[in-house]
Amino acid sequence: MRVRPQLKPISVIRRPSEVILVGRALEATYLTDDDGGITALLRVLAQGRHTVAELPAAMAECGFEVTEAEVAEAVRALDEVGVLLRADSDADLDPATLRRHESNLRFYDLFADLGRTSADYHRAMAGADVLLLGAGGMGSGVLQSLIGLGVGRVRLVDVDTVEEKNLARQFAYGRDDVGRTKVDAARDWAARYSPGTTAVEAIHERVTDVESIRRLGAGASLVVCAIDSPDGVHLLVNEACFDLGVPFVTGGLQYSTMFHWSVEPGVSPCRLCLELNRRDEGETMPELTDRAVVLPAGRVNRATGPIAQLLAGFVTLEVARYLTRTDPPVAAGVYHTIELADGMRTTTSPWKRHPNCPLCARATAGRSPDASALTAVA
Ligand SMILES: [Zn+2]
Repeated sequence: MRVRPQLKPISVIRRPSEVILVGRALEATYLTDDDGGITALLRVLAQGRHTVAELPAAMAECGFEVTEAEVAEAVRALDEVGVLLRADSDADLDPATLRRHESNLRFYDLFADLGRTSADYHRAMAGADVLLLGAGGMGSGVLQSLIGLGVGRVRLVDVDTVEEKNLARQFAYGRDDVGRTKVDAARDWAARYSPGTTAVEAIHERVTDVESIRRLGAGASLVVCAIDSPDGVHLLVNEACFDLGVPFVTGGLQYSTMFHWSVEPGVSPCRLCLELNRRDEGETMPELTDRAVVLPAGRVNRATGPIAQLLAGFVTLEVARYLTRTDPPVAAGVYHTIELADGMRTTTSPWKRHPNCPLCARATAGRSPDASALTAVA
């Protein structure tokens, strides 16, 4: 294939004897450029019209004599710092897909290089199949974002019907949907909003145990947990996802703290590890658990529309990292919190793999000692 490297639309700043490439926020690459040759090469590459073999001739027109080997090395180095993509790499997508997904493709450009194109990232998304547990405040928002991104299939599971109070924060539903099952209303919303983009399967069912999650998720690429019952649902999803061999992502609101985290079975510490760590802490620090609760905190849902949308956004971004691998998942074994009542203070707290976690032990049994050592400290 004739690959024509093209400079991404980034800022290039020229200083005496130096050029600075500013591609992404907080990232800058400094290149020495005494004779202006690098600047000339960047100008030629911005056109995206030449293969590597054609670049020496284009450089000669700018007054620089370079060999193909020299220019190939420069292109390799520029690709390594993430400032090149393949010219016309979208060309193998049909025009309707290009129009519909233009902003998605331009986002993927940030991560594309000469090896993997933005169209490849889009195809990974279009080929994905997500089990979405819950079509409430967070789940219905996740569904909307997944459809925006063009995920291929969503199996949507929920047992509730739409109520008037849901209209405060569940924007996939309208007044006419009150009384309908959420899964049917959400499937119909998807069909109206962007027909043909995502196959939404409406499953009107209550999640009760590990076995039901395993059955619902057979063959899925990933699970999103957007339900808070039955009790301990995160541990159930955690165990099922080890059997399914797929990651899961979740999030929620506790008092005024918004949180999200994810688990990649066999790679990150899992939810059971966290549970076992907490039990250990309870033994060594009994004051943490040995407290008489006079009034248990009641279950109150305080998630307003903007909170539900933010949560759905953070969760879906993590889902997209898993499905496309643009960059590594940020919340794998890491609690991300945003404290809404305290100046939007954010925290990230990684938890450790527990040495006695049976799920992680089984999942890493076949791995090399080096790999497990790495994930244990991750
Ligand atoms: Zn574990």
